[in-house]
Order: sequence, then structure tokens, then C-alpha cells
Amino acid sequence: MPYHEFTIRIPDLFRDTLIRMLTQNGCLGVIEDKYSLIAYFPATNDVDYILSELAVQKAILEKVDREHEMTFDYNLIPDQDWNESWKKGFTPLDVGEHFTILPPWEDERSGRINLIIDPGMAFGTGHHETTRSCLVLMEKYDGKTEKGRFLDLGTGTGLLAIAASKLGYKQVVAVDTDPLSIEAARKNLELNHDINVELREGSIAEAPGTFDCIAANIISSVLILLAHEISSRLNPSGIGILSGILADQADEVIRAYEQTGLKFIESFPDDKWVSLVLQK
Ligand code: SAH
Repeated sequence: MPYHEFTIRIPDLFRDTLIRMLTQNGCLGVIEDKYSLIAYFPATNDVDYILSELAVQKAILEKVDREHEMTFDYNLIPDQDWNESWKKGFTPLDVGEHFTILPPWEDERSGRINLIIDPGMAFGTGHHETTRSCLVLMEKYDGKTEKGRFLDLGTGTGLLAIAASKLGYKQVVAVDTDPLSIEAARKNLELNHDINVELREGSIAEAPGTFDCIAANIISSVLILLAHEISSRLNPSGIGILSGILADQADEVIRAYEQTGLKFIESFPDDKWVSLVLQK
């Protein structure tokens, strides 16, 4: 089947919005790396319409952010085996000391904690620094809290919730405000055996009660807005793992959480991103 391939460079902050626009316009899937997004559409899609939508996004972005630029290229890929080309972008990825993230068509690795993720539309395939940092920190703090309840706030593909369940948390709750993420997470939960994750559409209000660990890989502004709520939902000595924070915004996020009474434990940088660990 022939298909359209768009290679798009866009500042990180605008990626989620762009992926949503692409998905709403029939995008089959997105491969993300540090520098760009590659988005695939069936050749039956109207390419001029997609190009005009991208031009609109570019114009909006340039209005709000003069420092960064969005660029895009387009190719028609003739009659290749779409599935095979798409799959090549996703090979097993080792993260931390124990985790391997792999797509469902690969064999599980023995001796590793396998996290099976079908790379669909949602964010959280492990190819982003912030997701990997959350996994590394979950592993590092494993055993330093009770392993009762875990909350994955903004679950995307469901990856962190699946990891928490496989680490042995007794009850894992995953929420996301985006129905497409919930759909993707539901499929991924089914791909992983013996896991124990409750999935709910919405935000932290949909996850009542308190938790031994809350992981939230969202963006700084949302993390700051949710500071009191997240803090009040941690059990005594519970751990908060916060990610999606640009390095120059970390201090502001730390201050917001310290004001709620949490103790700052460590910051974990990766490239221009920082993840934070705070404790009740
Ligand atoms: N946890 C995954 C995905 C992170 S992307 C990972 O670490 O890779 C952030 C996700 O948070 C998106 O799926 C987005 O829809 C969701 N989100 C954004 N704001 C939210 C909010 N206020 N409450 C819950 N989810 C939210």
C-alpha cells in the first residue's frame, strides 16, 4: 500500500497538540525521535489538506514562539510493505537495569521486566527522555516505599502503569484526560500478562484515595497546577516522580511542591529535560 510520509520538526512543547491534529486527520501512526516526528497517512488521504493544516500550525507556532521554528517535508512512499517499514522503527529498548520496552511482534527477553507496547498514537513508547527517566526513577525508588497503591497520572500508552504493576505494586490506577490515550492504554494492558491496572478517563479526581507512589509525566504548568492535589494524595513517606519538565522550569516546580510540604529528594536530568523526586 502506498502512503504519505511527513517528517516534521517541531519544538517539544507543541508535539502533543500536533500529534492530536494529525490523528484527527487520519494519521496511521507517528514515529518520534529526539529531533523529529515522522507521520504516516494512507495515500487515499488528501495531501493538500494535511499540508495546509501543517502550514496553519506553523503560522500559529511562529506567532507564539519566535525562537523556535517548525519545518516539514513530505514524501509519497510507493507501494512498500507498510507494516514492515513501520515496524522497523520499533526495536526492543532496554531502559534502566531491568526494563525492556518492546513491541508485540518481538520476543520477550528472559531475565528482563518486559513492557509490551504497541506503538500507536499515544505518547509513551519509551523513545522520549522523560518516559525513560520515570522508569529509571521508579526502579531506583523501588523498595523505598510501601508497594501498595501506584498512580500513573497522564498514562499515555499505559507504559508506567504497566511497569508499576510488574514491579509488584498491589493496586495500580492509570488516568488520562485524552480518550485516544485511554484507548491505546487499554490495548497495551491487554498485551501484558498478569497485570493489575485500573484505567480511567480523566485526571487525578478520577483516582480517589492515597498512593505510595505517584508518577506524573505531564508538563510543568500542569504539574504546578496539580501540586496541592498530588501532594495531598501521597501516603506518609510516599514518593512523587514528576517529569516532562524543561530544565529551566525545574526550580519553579520544586518550589510549588515544597510549598505543599513535600521534601525535594533529587533531580534527574536527561538532555534538556529534568525529572524530580519528592517525598511526603
Ligand atoms: N506517562 C506516559 C505519557 C506521558 S504524556 C509517559 O511517561 O511516557 C502526558 C499524558 O498526560 C498525555 O497522554 C496527556 O493526554 C495526559 N494529560 C495531560 N494533562 C493531564 C491532566 N491534567 N490529567 C491527566 N492526564 C493529563
